[in-house]
Amino acid sequence: MKPPPFAYHDPASVDEAVSLRAEHEFDSLVLAGGQSLVPMLNIRLARPELLIDINRIEDLRTVRAPTPTSSSARPCASTTSRSTRWSARSSRC
Ligand SMILES: Cc1cc2nc3c(=O)[nH]c(=O)nc-3n(C[C@H](O)[C@H](O)[C@H](O)COP(=O)(O)OP(=O)(O)OC[C@H]3O[C@@H](n4cnc5c(N)ncnc54)[C@H](O)[C@@H]3O)c2cc1C
Repeated sequence: MKPPPFAYHDPASVDEAVSLRAEHEFDSLVLAGGQSLVPMLNIRLARPELLIDINRIEDLRTVRAPTPTSSSARPCASTTSRSTRWSARSSRC
């Protein structure tokens, strides 16, 4: 089976994603890695009218450097294991 039709947005910022989500609170879903959501779409357990893909939001994909109040580096919500290793190698965190 294939997913029912839905609109697709891939916002470039957290603010844009949040306002899309606020505007479509009850008929939208957020797409992160898609491991759970894509199968749910395919078998039509999820039927959003709008899919908000957060993968293009650079702010969610970085690793935050340690700060005076937090001694460890902090991966953001969409940071992948692969990009964490890349950040460590390139001394970006
Ligand atoms: C074959 C298989 C094996 C797995 N094995 C494991 C395992 O060993 N251990 C384990 O812990 N998990 C496992 N999982 C679960 C997998 O890790 C989850 O699918 C994963 O945590 C979902 O992350 P995702 O980024 O793919 O989310 P998605 O599939 O993109 O989204 C999942 C749900 O979260 C919502 N969502 C996503 N991001 C946001 C957001 N920022 N704000 C609000 N809602 C959001 C989506 O709308 C959706 O409802 C497995 C899954 C599969 C298919």
